[in-house]
Amino acid sequence: MEEVIIVGAGPCGLSAAAELKKRNIDPLIIEKGCVVNSIYNYPTFMQFFSTPELLEIGEVPFVITGDKPTRQEALVYYRTVAQRKKLRIHTYEAVQSVYRQGELFRVETTDRSGRTKRYQAKFVIIATGYFDNPNVLDAAGAELPKVIGQYKDAHPYSGTKVAVVGGNNSAVDAAMDLEKAGADVTVIYRGNGYSPKIKPWVLPLFESLVNKGRIKMHAQTVIEEIREDSILINTKGERQELENDYVFTLIGYRPDHRMLKQIGVGVREDTGAPVFDEATYETNLHNLFIAGVIAAGKDANSIFIENGKLHGAVIAEEIVSRAT
Ligand code: FAD
Ligand code: NAP
Repeated sequence: MEEVIIVGAGPCGLSAAAELKKRNIDPLIIEKGCVVNSIYNYPTFMQFFSTPELLEIGEVPFVITGDKPTRQEALVYYRTVAQRKKLRIHTYEAVQSVYRQGELFRVETTDRSGRTKRYQAKFVIIATGYFDNPNVLDAAGAELPKVIGQYKDAHPYSGTKVAVVGGNNSAVDAAMDLEKAGADVTVIYRGNGYSPKIKPWVLPLFESLVNKGRIKMHAQTVIEEIREDSILINTKGERQELENDYVFTLIGYRPDHRMLKQIGVGVREDTGAPVFDEATYETNLHNLFIAGVIAAGKDANSIFIENGKLHGAVIAEEIVSRAT
């Protein structure tokens, strides 16, 4: 029997684990992929916006040579924390269901060989993030294989005609990366002009590429239909067909609350966030906690590593006060 099971080894799940260990509780983390699986799946050459000290967990210093960590440096950092803190992590094991049995929780998983495993725990912390649940474009043809919801690398698209949907940082970063690799890039953004959310040090670079015509930008524009060799766009009522090989829909993410709902956690209609006590991160189910981005609702970007990592200490304090 486990004292605490944490679902998800992202930065916020790991932070919760490190905080529990500091308080002499040794939780079991169950992770469906590798340690910090979401970050592993981010664009290969991305650089974080946050400075390293803001991404630190478990009081382990995050030292880098530049000013902002790369994805690679973050992977090294978080796996080092996991090793140094001797965190117990079952990787490549997906939690399929969590349900209450009396005072305890039953957790059912599938391991890398497809075998079912069952655990019991007094406390469960769900820290499953949002990255596995990208927003889906509402356009005819959005299900075609040429439509890609997560951007990884530019090389395969060199010499192809690519549309990037979205106007914030993922879209802008990908558009600039693709342009550099020799793709013919068109950005389709539903907003007016440039999004105010584009990081201030990125905007001038992007704007310059647009001004020079190296990236084509269609603002106040939506894609109505994606076809095998083209896209049909609509700019304020004016339709146009553009030749196209690939479409990247980089339109953000939303936490997937299905597992929480299945366990019996409520989701608020106004905010779209799970029902939880903001002082403890305990949900409406006794001894079931949430940490990190899974606690967000419609405003999914309101929680990120810098603030989501802080949930762990609050939860650990609460669990310690109840543990026998
Ligand atoms: P995640 O990191 O998504 O971790 C959740 C984990 O749960 C994953 O490993 C997943 O595999 C696992 N999981 C999911 N379902 C299951 C299941 N059923 N069973 C077992 N395991 C499961 N934030 C910042 O603070 N600074 C930045 O500079 C920054 N840059 C970003 C750049 C990009 C491109 C993106 C997309 C986001 C960025 N963010 C940044 C946001 C930040 O990465 C996320 O907020 C953060 O990853 C949230 O951490 P988390 O632990 O809540 O979720
Ligand atoms: P995002 O900030 O949520 O932006 C989504 C974009 O897609 C917005 O421009 C939005 O338009 C548009 N959009 C949303 N739904 C749409 C729809 N149905 N149809 C058409 N367009 C739609 O997502 P993101 O850019 O992926 O960023 C996610 C998080 O990662 C953020 O916290 C961001 O800061 C972070 N990030 C960090 C880095 C980095 O550190 N290097 C890089 C990329 C992202 P509106 O503008 O009109 O809402």
